[in-house]
This record gives sequence, structure tokens and C-alpha cells, in this order.
Amino acid sequence: MKPDATREDIDRVVHVIETLGFRAHSLPGEGRTAIGITGNKGSVDPAHFENLSGVADAIRVTKPYKLISKDLRPEQSVIKVGNASIGGGSLAVIAGPCAIESEEQVLAVAKSVAESGAQFFRGGAFKPRTSPYAFQGMGEDGLKILSGVRDRYGLNIVTEAMDERGIDLVEKYGDCIQIGARNMQNFSLLKYAGQTRKPILLKRGLSATLDELLLAAEYIMAEGNYDVILCERGIRTFVDHARNTLDLSIVPALQRLSHLPVIVDPSHGTGHNYMVTPMARAGVAAGADGLIVEVHSQPERALCDGAQALTPKQYLELVDQVRRIHEVVSTGKPALQASI
Ligand code: PEP
Ligand code: MN
Repeated sequence: MKPDATREDIDRVVHVIETLGFRAHSLPGEGRTAIGITGNKGSVDPAHFENLSGVADAIRVTKPYKLISKDLRPEQSVIKVGNASIGGGSLAVIAGPCAIESEEQVLAVAKSVAESGAQFFRGGAFKPRTSPYAFQGMGEDGLKILSGVRDRYGLNIVTEAMDERGIDLVEKYGDCIQIGARNMQNFSLLKYAGQTRKPILLKRGLSATLDELLLAAEYIMAEGNYDVILCERGIRTFVDHARNTLDLSIVPALQRLSHLPVIVDPSHGTGHNYMVTPMARAGVAAGADGLIVEVHSQPERALCDGAQALTPKQYLELVDQVRRIHEVVSTGKPALQASI
């Protein structure tokens, strides 16, 4: 739509699309609103819209995905998560333990996360574990603890849901629903997530290609939830020095095609404490819109992913470093004046 298109102009276009039997997706941007069309088999004649008041252009999207695409919305999406946002030039830091284990454990970490200036707290109450005998998470009790972190520290809560019931619960207690790597192609779950009104953090599957990740995001958006954040968390390769191979080249590749924010998870991406900070720095240098990092006050006692957890002290150092890198990347200027 043209920048000066009115609400009525937008509604009229939406109405025409719906009358044709298609679904209209209205995506307001900074300068203008884009309206995507889905549900069409084959091409739609642009003559239906071209001459309507307020319409700037009717663009045919030939890629397999539409709503995630920059063709539809050239400017970057800024996704509101609780009282903060992800994307649009700032660096989002999401930090916290792998799993919610107890209130004491969570509060010990939350204090450092709040101190670091991060606006988002992570922690799983539903854990996708390889073994059925491993700690599966605290469930709803864990979500209540997370809700307490928001009340006490004002941090916005990012937490995983593994099924539809989990999505309902996370919608109630959290601010952002994480869909984990193992569920990236759980299509019925993606559709269900598309019907919620909470933003979705979608993690790349263990062996997902760029197209598969983008189409998973498209599943969510096609249902009407446009608030999706993509996350590179490492893929499985032949290497055995790291848990996964953090594929940082996907950051610019995704940003080239999609308006959605892209964040990096150096914790699952490496699996080793000593690799987390270097790869977090690299992720920010590569242009990521944020990081999701695991932190534990006693990593050696963690019930899940202790080997990759940073101590609060290490985490605070990481944040200090990546903020300076982000400043350089986003402004092109050195973060600190060199002392003479
Ligand atoms: C997590 O973030 O705790 C997690 C399980 O991540 P992933 O789905 O990327 O393995
Ligand atoms: Mn973990």
C-alpha cells in the first residue's frame, strides 16, 4: 500500500482478497502496510487490486514462501516480546538456565541476567530430552517460577512448548513461545502456534536447510501470527569436537531473504562452556539480532546441559563484549576510543 493509504483503503483490499476466496495478511510496517495473499492456487491477476485506492503495487512472489519474504515487507520486522522488542537494530539478549529446576536456582541466575541489562529470560519447563529417563522439566510449576521472575525483575519470559497443551500454558505464563529444534517440522504444532497471539521463537531443526526453516516460519505466519523470530542453534555434522556446528553463514542468508529477526544460540550450537563466548561474539559480528545463552549458577550441578552453561560471571563478561561488538557492527565505528 502507499504510505498515505487509509484504514478504509486497506480494509477494501482485504475485502477484495477475501471475496476472491483467499486469505489476506495485513503486515503494517514503518512506512507502509503490505498485504500478503495466501490460499491461491496459481497466480492471481494483479488487475483485481492495481487500481484500488491506496494501492502502490501488486507484486507477484515467486518463491515458495511469501509472508516471511522481503518481497512482501522490505524493512526488517521488529517483534514485540512482552515490554521489549527483538529486531530493528538493537541487540536482544535472552539468557537463563537450560531448565527450570527450582526457585532458588532460577532467582540466582535471574539476578545476573537483570544486572546485565538483558530484557529476556529463558528456561525450559518442558524439556525435549533424548532419554525418557532424563529430567523432563517441572511443567506448570516451572512456568509459575518463571512468571515470578517477570514480576520480580521485569524480564520477559521465553520458554519452550512441545505440544498444544504446552502452548496454551506458555501463552498463559510466558511472553514468547519457543519451538525447539526437534519440533521445527512438527507441522500441526506450527499451525497451532500460528493461532496464538504470543510471539514465537523458532529454532532451526538439527538438519534443516534454510528453505525448511523459512517454510516452518511460513506455516506459523500463514495462520495469522506474524511475530516470528528465527534462531540458528547449530546443526548436526560429522565433527566431534563440538555438540553441533554453529552455522553462522545462515544469519546473512536468512536476513537477505526474510524480514524476520535472526538470533544465535552459541550454547546448543557448541555444547561446551569454553566455546560459548567466542561463538557469541562471532554471531553478533555476523549481524545477528540477538543471542540466546544458557547460564547456571552451579553448572556442575545442572540437571540439563551443564557442560555448556556459563557461570553468571562469565555471562556478564560475554554481554560486555558482545555489546561492544554490536556497536561496531551497527555503527561502523569503534566502540571505545583508543587511549593514547
Ligand atoms: C533449549 O533451548 O533449551 C533447547 C532444547 O534448544 P534446541 O531445541 O535448540 O535443542
Ligand atoms: Mn539446553
